[in-house]
Amino acid sequence: MERSFALTIDGQQVSAADSFDVLDPALGTAFAAAPAASRQQLDDAVAAARRAFPGWAARTQQERQAAVNAMADIIEAHAGDLAALVTREQGKPLGGLGSNWEIGAAIAWARHTATLALPVEVIQADETANVTLHHRPIGVVGSITPWNFPIMIAIWHMMPAILAGNTVVLKPSPKTPLATLWLGELLQKALPPGVLNVLSARDEIGQAMAEHEGIDKIIFTGSTATGRKVMASGARNLKRLTLELGGNDAGIVLPDADVDANIDKLFWGIFINNGQTCAALKRLYVHDSIYEDVCQKLVRYAANIVTGNGLEATSHLGPIQNPMQFERVKGLVDRARQEGARVLCGGEPMAGPGLFYPVTIVADATEGMALVDEEQFGPAIPVIRYHDVEDVITRANASENGLGGSIWSRDVDAARRLAARLECGSVWVNNHGAIRPDAPFGGVKQSGIGVEFAALGLAECTTVQVIHA
Ligand code: NAD
Repeated sequence: MERSFALTIDGQQVSAADSFDVLDPALGTAFAAAPAASRQQLDDAVAAARRAFPGWAARTQQERQAAVNAMADIIEAHAGDLAALVTREQGKPLGGLGSNWEIGAAIAWARHTATLALPVEVIQADETANVTLHHRPIGVVGSITPWNFPIMIAIWHMMPAILAGNTVVLKPSPKTPLATLWLGELLQKALPPGVLNVLSARDEIGQAMAEHEGIDKIIFTGSTATGRKVMASGARNLKRLTLELGGNDAGIVLPDADVDANIDKLFWGIFINNGQTCAALKRLYVHDSIYEDVCQKLVRYAANIVTGNGLEATSHLGPIQNPMQFERVKGLVDRARQEGARVLCGGEPMAGPGLFYPVTIVADATEGMALVDEEQFGPAIPVIRYHDVEDVITRANASENGLGGSIWSRDVDAARRLAARLECGSVWVNNHGAIRPDAPFGGVKQSGIGVEFAALGLAECTTVQVIHA
């Protein structure tokens, strides 16, 4: 790639002494280099964010809303080029639920965030007391993002933080840093220097952020294992934390489900972004009476799905993003097959050198197989048989994760009652993973702490102050 990428610190484009390669997963080779920020550059970014904080916190709500809208305008003006860069580094196709969709969602989330406010709450106002509750910005927010939706998740972190009056140091995943670096550069036009700093760096700078005394809160999206490390590191200065972690979402297809009418939602609820999606359907429980029928319908749908280079218009899905994840998905499917599962379609890597693995549907999967018990985060779905609804609710809940879940049935009232019994942050009826900016989203159990989106998500970017006068 011709162009070069830089860090953004204190409103300036800054190079780094060190760099690392960025892979194009469709080609299986590096196509660009990203600067590797040093510990000193992290300190510089945190210092710039601290300097910018009082001025930014003092701005009016209207001024900060205008800045968030201006950032949405900038993203919109560069949407096509940002999407193309996301496709190069992440692999997802331009079309469908791919990179153009991701950038569109980022714009929609930013614009919705700009409409949010946390008004002063009057607790008592009479002749005996005046007690009011105010939301104050926290200070410097560190944002650490994963490789599956690099731009959309960066927007989820930075927009509410900035709107609430905080300043930000953002570190994208070293696997997908480029579009985020460019975004950081572009957005400077809408912000004073130091309000948004963006550093690409190796993992240890993520840990240094979690430990940093100059960072007051971390918003982290990534794996549960790393989330635990962030929490431990953050204990040093009692960092406020929002942790959006892994999921192993169960979807339960009841005997009366209208599978034909919902096959698009079922398929894409599983395979969005090649399954590399936190709240994708990852364990599909299907009632015995319709088990083979649902399996066959998914296989027929999969027969029309093209996995290929995301830059080609014919591709519905791209490659798996990185070699480690590719090997993991391959290994989980191979083990399930050895343990007696039936691979109905896919199940073998496609010709390289890109990291292509086809849509894979694995029938006769059971608990005890790692493909069921662990988060696969890839294009392979285990389909698990059940007989009894009470039993399947227990099995769906027998997971340390609790991000999303779904119930598929013609009887929406009955489905809603079952939904309430799933131990997870979001449950969909006849759909899966359909997040929206006006509905809070987060995990329970080991899937996270706190929520993002809507007023509750904005509130997590603030501390509460009560004035008793
Ligand atoms: P990851 O945990 O490996 O990395 C996430 C980020 O953490 C990267 O930026 C990485 O550099 C950084 N990091 C690594 N070590 C660190 C440390 N010790 N301290 C601080 N930061 C550190 O996750 P990933 O592989 O990039 O993403 C996949 C995982 O993310 C999956 O488990 C998926 O379910 C989860 N995810 C969750 C959500 C959600 O909203 N709940 C959304 C997307 C992805």
